[in-house]
Amino acid sequence: MSNPTDIRATRFVRPGSGWGEIGRQLISAADSTGGRREPSVLPAGAPNDVLTRVAAELGPRELATHGIGESAALEYMARIVHDYGLNLTDSTYAAHLQPPPLSVAVAADALASATNASLDTYDSGPATLAIETWAVDVLARLAGLPETAGGVFGPGGSYSNLLALLIARDQAGAARGLDIRHDGVAALGSPVVLCSRVAHFSVQRACAALGLGESAVITVDCDEQHRMLPSALEAILADPGVDPATGATRTPFAVIATAGTTDFGTIDPLPEIAEIARRYGLWMHVDAAYGFGALFSERLSGLLDGIALADSITLDLHKVGWQPAAASLLLLADTDSFASLDRSVAYLNPEDDLEAGLGGQLGLTLQTTRRPDVLKVATTLLAYGRSGLGEMLESCHDLALHAQRRIESEPQLELVTGTTLTTVVFRYRCHELDSDTVNAEVRRRLLTSGSALIGRTRVRVPSLCEPRTCLKLTLLNPETDAAGIDGLVDEILRVALEVESEGLGRLAPGARAHAGQKAGILP
Ligand SMILES: *Cc1c(COP(=O)(O)O)cnc(C)c1O
Repeated sequence: MSNPTDIRATRFVRPGSGWGEIGRQLISAADSTGGRREPSVLPAGAPNDVLTRVAAELGPRELATHGIGESAALEYMARIVHDYGLNLTDSTYAAHLQPPPLSVAVAADALASATNASLDTYDSGPATLAIETWAVDVLARLAGLPETAGGVFGPGGSYSNLLALLIARDQAGAARGLDIRHDGVAALGSPVVLCSRVAHFSVQRACAALGLGESAVITVDCDEQHRMLPSALEAILADPGVDPATGATRTPFAVIATAGTTDFGTIDPLPEIAEIARRYGLWMHVDAAYGFGALFSERLSGLLDGIALADSITLDLHKVGWQPAAASLLLLADTDSFASLDRSVAYLNPEDDLEAGLGGQLGLTLQTTRRPDVLKVATTLLAYGRSGLGEMLESCHDLALHAQRRIESEPQLELVTGTTLTTVVFRYRCHELDSDTVNAEVRRRLLTSGSALIGRTRVRVPSLCEPRTCLKLTLLNPETDAAGIDGLVDEILRVALEVESEGLGRLAPGARAHAGQKAGILP
């Protein structure tokens, strides 16, 4: 049985001994990359060239009659993702809300795959069903939600937001005696949702998917710190206006507050928004995909005061939580609100089986088969506790503050938005060339040289009062240190100077002003 070349013994993962076999297979795959140095943050080269190289490694696009065997296949793929993948542990990675994953979470995720349990019914896996309930309760309590709270894990914050808006939409219908699930959205008139100008684009996508249309999203103005202005929200609610297409009066049914905007990490004023939502009878959803992790930290948890007043909360532990994707959770203050997703299916949860205790979480989501993402989350919560996770976030917050100070001290850099959680938005100042073109080129050149991977966005720059292309550091690696950040900023400055001087070199002295793009500084 223990001979690893005996395919009969190891083809399928047996509980217990089989898990060890996964470990052994990973060790041999890792050994096969062992002689190579740790890869840079991203493989050097133009994106098309890199993809072409990987395609060439993969060979003919046809299913071979005979396989190459398990070890060879695994080693082959391990080498490809090692050589052409992303290195999130590198201190020059600062692009997205994509953290280096915790080893313990990856191991637990392999365990989740090994069980191949599903969460829809009791007989698709009892253990993980109870583990999900436990983790939901732990996180609902951390958020300060009432005893009635419930929740469901899903494949991402975008999906959790979709589910929240689906539930809010159906509740709004039910409040008016409508069965939206059965009758569709037409009877709702002209329903709208409100969120800030800088809320995540998944709100628009959710409204499109829910049959409300993207035009159902009304965006509310923000203050200088990109936080929703309660007065602006109130003004819209006092006079929501009519739908220009149909002439019907708009009926707001939900407000989405963002706790941790993707670019700036800023947090809408939750208590004020909750109070307004209550007065106007709106569902209050808090999109805390990024910011929820602040609750792990004593130093930062005050930022989320008021989150306990939400009707629903999205949180992504594959961001602040250091989980491999996906580990998203939708929490509801009242688990009864899941009712509109309830479903009776003859082959899964007939009434008499439900009475016998064979139910599961089928009625909490749109998925049927659903993998136990919760296993890695629960393992991580047990392993690290609140302070273990809180300290990791505080380290990232400190790094972001360090980056902010360094940027402020560099005359060539302009701080655009300081840090709230772990992001910093800034730009390279240049006077002779088009600064949008230069900043975008700096990011691409860092990326294609494999020397650093940073983010970009477009945001109103205070000194100019207009939107400009900016650079962004998103810092989620608590093992980076101040020297790592300084090295990254040095590299950004070096490449920016290089881009700028090349651009200037190509310009005739008379034609310099704001002409970078036309002069062809891009390759
Ligand atoms: C990342 C993010 C989302 C989307 O989450 P995914 O897990 O990427 O689908 C939604 N809202 C905010 C504020 C986010 O930062």
